[in-house]
Amino acid sequence: MPFSSLGFSSALLPALLQALAEKGYSAPTAIQAQAIPAILQGRDVLASAQTGSGKTAAFALPMLQQLAQTPSASGRRVRGLVLVPTRELAVQVGESLVSLAKYLPQRIKVAVVFGGVSINPQMMNLRGGADIMVATPGRLLDLIAHNALSLESVTTLVLDEADRLLDLGFGEELGRILALLPAQRQNLFFSATFPPAIEALAKSMLHNPLRVEVQAAAQTEPDITQRAIEVDAPRRTQLLRHLVQTEGWNRVLVFVATKHAAEIVADKLRKADIEAEPFHGELSQGKRQQVLQDFKLKILQVVVATDVAARGLDIAQLPVVVNYDLPRSAVDYTHRIGRTGRAGESGVAITFVTADTDAHFRLIEKRQRLSVPREQVAGFEPVETGGPSAHDPSSTGGIKGKRPSKKDKLREAAARSQPPHEEQR
Ligand code: AMP
Repeated sequence: MPFSSLGFSSALLPALLQALAEKGYSAPTAIQAQAIPAILQGRDVLASAQTGSGKTAAFALPMLQQLAQTPSASGRRVRGLVLVPTRELAVQVGESLVSLAKYLPQRIKVAVVFGGVSINPQMMNLRGGADIMVATPGRLLDLIAHNALSLESVTTLVLDEADRLLDLGFGEELGRILALLPAQRQNLFFSATFPPAIEALAKSMLHNPLRVEVQAAAQTEPDITQRAIEVDAPRRTQLLRHLVQTEGWNRVLVFVATKHAAEIVADKLRKADIEAEPFHGELSQGKRQQVLQDFKLKILQVVVATDVAARGLDIAQLPVVVNYDLPRSAVDYTHRIGRTGRAGESGVAITFVTADTDAHFRLIEKRQRLSVPREQVAGFEPVETGGPSAHDPSSTGGIKGKRPSKKDKLREAAARSQPPHEEQR
């Protein structure tokens, strides 16, 4: 089915098709084909959308049409609001909107706001309002507190990666934002997973929504080969270096459990003449943008990241993701490996399994209904044996679904005193 038969207005279709052609989108993805006609008719939509499904254009295109058919924003008003969990996703969604709006006859002003950077330029930019605002919840509330914008004219609300918004502790902020929005509006709700809290939020927000689920077996399903390599924990960096040097990977995203580990592993790779940088929430926004840009430009071969990077990062041609440390949960595993194999490309996801983390990986496999054969690499065969006492939760970031140890509880207490989403604000 071509984009032209999804119900776009004939007056705006040529401009949208030109932008789509420029981006190389020749036909709609499954989620676009299902969601766009309903959104254009003004319906609420509840979409179960995996990373890489094309969900951004699924809400961006109809939103742009609606806004291009009505008068531009003025005052401090915002007309379309997209809430996202992370800065990186905010930037990406903003870029998509701008590129898709490029040829529309009416200028669509897109404002992207997130925390961690000075609020003043964002306030200045909001003078005269914005047709679409893409925001992380904390900074949006800060801007409202500064009287920099008003939500009273919002006609469309998008929650992008709603599950992640709640995972990152934005539930309360979301509630406050929803209370400031006009009751009469269109709601578009996108989430990769539907745990009970997300179902409840969706139910409270949406009116007679069209439920869109892109089947796992659809053609948009990413082509990701999953591998698990058994190795002793202290030899993981050496194995990573060996694989980077021998497998001919030009770009590798490595996931670790802590900011400290990201720094150390990147440092060790650099000492072996591999261009590597850490990527985590304690870096300045400028540094994070620089790392991403260098990675995209292939100046960097390896980025060693914490889970901050697991969502929202869209790097075309990322052939390899390595789980140096295991993710905490099966859902995080899916998000991590979803960074590769995007937009029809194939990818490889490699997980290092040590004696201590084998049981945790089995749990992830069970939850994901997966069975990843264990491999060993010559010269790196493990000699350590695991055992219940050998497990150190600090090396994996903890295990979801297991009774927390004293150490886990201490870590949780520390995390509570420093909210996990602070770095997004
Ligand atoms: P998203 O799920 O919105 O993050 O999109 C995933 C990737 O698919 C991005 O790299 C998009 O640029 C790309 N994409 C989205 N829609 C299409 C399409 N219709 N045809 C080809 N690529 C697309």
